[in-house]
Amino acid sequence: MAIPMPTRQLFIDGEWREPILRKRIPIVNPATEEVIGDIPAATTEDVEVAVNAARRAFSRNKGKDWAKAPGAVRAKYLRAIAAKVIERKTDLAKLEAFDCGKPLDEAVWDMDDVAGCFEYYADLAEGLDAKQKTPVSLPMESFKSFVLKQPLGVVGLITPWNYPLLMAVWKVAPSLAAGCTAILKPSELASVTCLELADICREVGLPPGVLNVLTGFGSEAGAPLASHPGVDKIAFTGSFATGSKVMTAAAQLVKPVSMELGGKSPLIVFDDVDLDKAAEWALFGCFWTNGQICSATSRLLVHESIASEFIEKLVKWSKNIKISDPMEEGCRLGPVVSQGQYEKILKFISTAKSEGATILHGGSRPEHLAKGFFIEPTILTDVTTSMQIWREEVFGPVLCVKTFASEDEAIELANDSHYGLGAAVISNDTERCDRVSKAFEAGIVWINCSQPCFTQAPWGGVKRSGFGRELGEWGLDNYLSVKQVTLYTSNDPWGWYKSPN
Ligand code: NAD
Repeated sequence: MAIPMPTRQLFIDGEWREPILRKRIPIVNPATEEVIGDIPAATTEDVEVAVNAARRAFSRNKGKDWAKAPGAVRAKYLRAIAAKVIERKTDLAKLEAFDCGKPLDEAVWDMDDVAGCFEYYADLAEGLDAKQKTPVSLPMESFKSFVLKQPLGVVGLITPWNYPLLMAVWKVAPSLAAGCTAILKPSELASVTCLELADICREVGLPPGVLNVLTGFGSEAGAPLASHPGVDKIAFTGSFATGSKVMTAAAQLVKPVSMELGGKSPLIVFDDVDLDKAAEWALFGCFWTNGQICSATSRLLVHESIASEFIEKLVKWSKNIKISDPMEEGCRLGPVVSQGQYEKILKFISTAKSEGATILHGGSRPEHLAKGFFIEPTILTDVTTSMQIWREEVFGPVLCVKTFASEDEAIELANDSHYGLGAAVISNDTERCDRVSKAFEAGIVWINCSQPCFTQAPWGGVKRSGFGRELGEWGLDNYLSVKQVTLYTSNDPWGWYKSPN
């Protein structure tokens, strides 16, 4: 099953370049704890070279630059990239699974989504030319006005490790479709497939400098990118803490940012549901992607009248979740991404226990796996709203359960969070679902499910989960600036200044 990790360099100006300081970062397989390769580590010096390359590509020779190319030309490249992703799908999925511990089946879904995202934004790039000059109706006949939507410029894209390639492509595809040129800085914990994307761009002949990929640490490569005066916008996905630092750096130059941050999303289960269907969504909504989902519905609110039967079912079913090496067939829960993350999650669990929470299932390493960063699917009850485990993002396979007596109480508990990314409700009463979805303080609401995500629909949060929307047409708007153009069309003088005769 093992496939060799390719040895890559930084991808700058259409070619592979060794980092100027020649630093590299080891890749650790989270399922075995073995070092299986390494990636280049960019520093400020490389950021400088990449920004210059991206600036040249943005406005190279008159008429030949990426920004001014017709949308149809950019679409052709995006479609070629999508086709190569499909061609290499199996290998890309295996690399992803080795690198971040994601079950192979899930990594294959990700690759389909990656290709679909490039295809979708290829369509929007083609449509963009027709929308370039949108008229605005004015109250004065002597004026005409229209709006031009133009690429923002050179954009810095900083991304996390939980969906290493997909989260990057949610930014790469729309930014390139819009006519921006980009510098992608993936997470130091999982960058392998982003470097393979660079290789695909090279293979399809994407013009040099249009996409540059700088792997490396956040402090050494991400921070200089965020503060670089040659970068016109930063699109960030990651934790609240880092997002706040990136915003502070960008604020020095009043640089626009979009922020996709963490979450602590609720799932409300009412007493009129099919318990089996609801239980599957509750488990999937929290334990999918090894529990490392920004929108994981990790705070479960169950109506008190069904709570004991429902919780018993969750515990029973959790025992059957297959925890194994991500490459094993039927794996549903692989290891978490790193030693650091593993220790952090276990610390969250032990603190919750010391604060009085009860562990109904899990809470530690599965007995059958002596190596690797594996944690059992964990279900906690007797959790209070002031506990750290209820309030903070764990980013691991940990589900907290509380009960409620009324719809009002459920909504109050659901919204009592600094975060506001996702929220879900399960009930057979459609009017109730409608009421609850309007009351949720969240950017994404699921009814009778949890987590499904579509390239066509907007994605993003409120409160400390960030602002700006990715995906859909909103994702393209992230990389376009709006320019007002107003014409004076009358033959008469304006009349403010009367020349003396
Ligand atoms: P992180 O904040 O630690 O890192 C994110 C990225 O920022 C990485 O590439 C990192 O190298 C870089 N970085 C670190 N310090 C930096 C700095 N000072 N300046 C610039 N860049 C810097 O997040 P993570 O641990 O990689 O990812 C997990 C987090 O991402 C979770 O909070 C999760 O909820 C969030 N996330 C959100 C979404 C969403 O759509 N809202 C999607 C996926 C993940």
